[in-house]
Amino acid sequence: MRPTGKLHLGHWAGALENWVALQNEGGYSNYHLIADYHAITTNLDTSRIHEYSLEMVLDWLSAGIDPDHSPIFRQSQVKEHTELHLIFSMLITTARLERNPTLKEQVRDLELGPISYGYLGYPVLQAADILLYKGEVVPVGEDQLSHVEITREIARDFNRQYGDVFPEPAAKLTKFARLPGLDGKKMSKSLNNAIMLSDEPDEVKKKMKKAVTDPQKIRKGDPGRPDICLVFTYHKKFNASEEQEIRKGCESGQLGCVDCKMRAAERINAFLDPFRERRKLYENNPEKLESILKAGEEKAREVASKTMSDVHKAMKMG
Ligand code: AMP
Repeated sequence: MRPTGKLHLGHWAGALENWVALQNEGGYSNYHLIADYHAITTNLDTSRIHEYSLEMVLDWLSAGIDPDHSPIFRQSQVKEHTELHLIFSMLITTARLERNPTLKEQVRDLELGPISYGYLGYPVLQAADILLYKGEVVPVGEDQLSHVEITREIARDFNRQYGDVFPEPAAKLTKFARLPGLDGKKMSKSLNNAIMLSDEPDEVKKKMKKAVTDPQKIRKGDPGRPDICLVFTYHKKFNASEEQEIRKGCESGQLGCVDCKMRAAERINAFLDPFRERRKLYENNPEKLESILKAGEEKAREVASKTMSDVHKAMKMG
């Protein structure tokens, strides 16, 4: 993930949930990368990257990532990422990168205008991030599928050209690979429509009050259409046991939108309570966070340098 500050429920629903599940299921070695070079593709100001990185690590830890099992590290501190990126950049055409739908969507949504050479190569650096650890499973949200596809193509092309070094990784989506925000668009910090993992209970309630609902359901008694209502999506995700009851209440008109929203806010708060507890163990302790990064970076460097020596051997370059 890019360190753009605090994380929201969309990050949980689309990616983090799978990270924690894979970690706890066992059988996987997870690697969690803070994509600080990727962050500068859309914002050259690096003055707050470190602060944002620590905020993000705090969110990961509060969500249940165990740094002893799953190393956490910064892209910029493991130089092999840039080295492998350079080699991979020779294996893909600019035309292929220009066709990337995620790039097109971002350029449109963020009104970016002309983009840099580095931004065009975003998925190439991401391929290096994944393949340096010979990643087999990539737990991401829907917007990243096209990037995992490019990673697979690069792995195939490298192996064909130089010999088998890399696996072809598969993306792993959650059921809610695109969680809507409070305005119905994709939940995103830049759209100001997000519930943050670190929001206090009152903040969650306040935000939920502003959520957009079915425009045809104006007052209690009007029948609603849960399948087009984003608050119902939150019930499906965070209140599965009451999903059917909420659906009936909405469709019959008996359940008003204000009550429905408050019930969703309560469930989200109950879901976030254990996050709040775990957060207390680490917040106000930046030294602890720094030492988690340091240990993660050492572990990552070991694996990354071994992969680079496999790469150089395959390429007969040392
Ligand atoms: P980013 O902050 O764009 O680097 O995203 C980090 C991860 O969170 C990626 O795997 C995204 O696909 C995922 N993600 C971000 N926003 C959402 C959302 N609203 N719904 C589902 N997944 C999301």
